[in-house]
Amino acid sequence: MNTTRPELNEKRAVLDEIDHTIVEALSKRQQCVDEIAQIKLNFPATIKDRHREHEILERLYNIADKTGADPQLVVKLYRLIMDHSRRLQEEHFAARSVPNKSESVVGYQGSEGAYSSLAARDYFSVRKHDIKLRGYETFLAMMEAVRDGQLDYCLLPVENTTAGSINEAYDLLARMDLKIVGEHIHRVEHCLVALESIPISRIRKILSHPQALQQCNRFLAELENCEASAYVDTAMAVEKLVLDQNLLQAAIASEQAANLHGLAIIKRDIANQRENYTRFVIVKKEAESYDTRIACKTSLVFAARDERGALLAALGVLAEYGLNLTKLESRPRTNLPWEYLFYVDFEGNLLDDKVKAALMYLAAKTSFLKVLGTYPTRNAQMLIDDKEHKTEKQETLSPTILRSLEKKAYKLASRVGRAEDTLIKVGHVVIGGRRPIVIAGPCSVESRDQVMGIAQMVKKAGADILRGGCFKPRTSPYDFQGLGYEGLELLYEAGQRYELPIVTEVMHPIDVKPVAEKSDILQIGARNMQNFSLLKEIGSIDRPVILKRGLMATIDEWLNAAEYILSHGNQRVILCERGIRTFETATRSTLDLSAVPVVKERSHLPIIVDPSHASGTWQYIPALSNAAMAVGAHGIMIEVHPEPTKALSDGPQALKYDTFEALMKQLESYRGED
Ligand code: PEP
Ligand code: MN
Repeated sequence: MNTTRPELNEKRAVLDEIDHTIVEALSKRQQCVDEIAQIKLNFPATIKDRHREHEILERLYNIADKTGADPQLVVKLYRLIMDHSRRLQEEHFAARSVPNKSESVVGYQGSEGAYSSLAARDYFSVRKHDIKLRGYETFLAMMEAVRDGQLDYCLLPVENTTAGSINEAYDLLARMDLKIVGEHIHRVEHCLVALESIPISRIRKILSHPQALQQCNRFLAELENCEASAYVDTAMAVEKLVLDQNLLQAAIASEQAANLHGLAIIKRDIANQRENYTRFVIVKKEAESYDTRIACKTSLVFAARDERGALLAALGVLAEYGLNLTKLESRPRTNLPWEYLFYVDFEGNLLDDKVKAALMYLAAKTSFLKVLGTYPTRNAQMLIDDKEHKTEKQETLSPTILRSLEKKAYKLASRVGRAEDTLIKVGHVVIGGRRPIVIAGPCSVESRDQVMGIAQMVKKAGADILRGGCFKPRTSPYDFQGLGYEGLELLYEAGQRYELPIVTEVMHPIDVKPVAEKSDILQIGARNMQNFSLLKEIGSIDRPVILKRGLMATIDEWLNAAEYILSHGNQRVILCERGIRTFETATRSTLDLSAVPVVKERSHLPIIVDPSHASGTWQYIPALSNAAMAVGAHGIMIEVHPEPTKALSDGPQALKYDTFEALMKQLESYRGED
């Protein structure tokens, strides 16, 4: 039966044509990348030029925006394309003893369709010659095959961002004389797979690798009458479904494993943490070396000497040579109870003189030292760039101020204990540095359309962080109280889609931990500045917090409230001046801008200003925002709404899109152009 109408066929032909053009263009792009790499080989240029990548993304975002393509989709696609290009270029810069054959044999642990096999395929996709993959039952068998020359390479998983380090892998690296020549980060997306697409409630048994079961245990805990059962690996669990032909059985595995056997995916992304990555190292018999112009990491394993302070002395050598440590892991030494081997990754290349010298001195401080290899970095940490962000060190405090500060009850919040400014990194945003940040968004999250629209707009205008209230402190119990967790889900989605970190308020200690799972920053509202149970609870979690100044709080009371959070462990507090109650009624509160220089003198914590709640009237906000920046605030927080008259809360103080955009333009003199 052919019900396809001719126009549909015509359109599909056009689409096919477009896809052809896209793929052809990609191939041309790839050729060009190769040629650039050839040129770079003869010039002192680095491969990964963060600045240039940022510029390219920005340019493409604007083109997409102008031409009607989805800018977010374009940015996402280009991240993948640029990562691929970088890896292609690195291939040119690798000096490897290329085996005199047209293919490499690569081992992984598990069966086809298991995450390791997908990672292997992905890692070697940039190689110009053929790759043959071979699965092994155990890590040991796989590593032995490399040692014995049956394999050219193997992929060894060393850590997972949810489950942590894989001990056996570390032990094998120390024990066997093999080298690390690369690393690969693989995103793990667990799916629930079954023979047919049936409702989850009918599933009675779920099979998977124990690690996968553990990474999805929250999803599993919610299922009734369903047993979780450990199996060899994720892909074999899928094979078992095919063998058993039991409709009520399911497996947790990758999408590819399901596709391989033509099975149905009942639910995607079922892991506790959506951001779930496994880091693999690529192991080979001999070391490979990489041009010093590409960002490399070096891995080594050592045992400290049997002397007091030996571990510190060993690590001190790396610090002395300015080598940035990216990982430190310890494992018990074989047959030597309470003695440890330390695994270290640091940024640097064995070809660098600095690294060579550091290793010589390090050897002298250890009782065992083995270099595992140098290889291009994949999970480079974005370190706060001191030059770009650090404010000039606060002038040394005058003895008089110092004496009066020493008498204050707060110690951790005080400059007395920490002279340098505290910088707080949230995603790629740094709060507390030279460049003031802008947080923008609705007073309350009201609907998906509302928050998505606002997120898109504020992102385009250059905002750094998205705000949105879900639990609202309202003066009257009859007012809109917020969408709670439903709102948080929408705010989270908007943040993900537009790549903006999010901030939302919590009012009750029981909400702190669940909200912290979704929100990049938590907010304590003005009315809760002295809610001590809330302060203590937030003090015990590992999430930055914006602490608003209470309506009747003095600066010292405010800093003491911050001290509650700091003294319970959480050092990432951002203060927010939002106006205090005075005799003046012309504005909602009185914005106390003098708090900014006073707080900056007394405390190292970042301080931002919220002119929206202070003024209560949108017309005053541009002037007060400029004033906040002029007085040295580390940022501002602004309420924005597409239709303020229809807003469910704080409409009169919300900026419409055009006003917000105009304000952002004005603020460029403080923030630079985005
Ligand atoms: C808010 O930021 O949504 C808010 C309620 O602010 P404040 O606690 O400053 O009134
Ligand atoms: Mn508000």
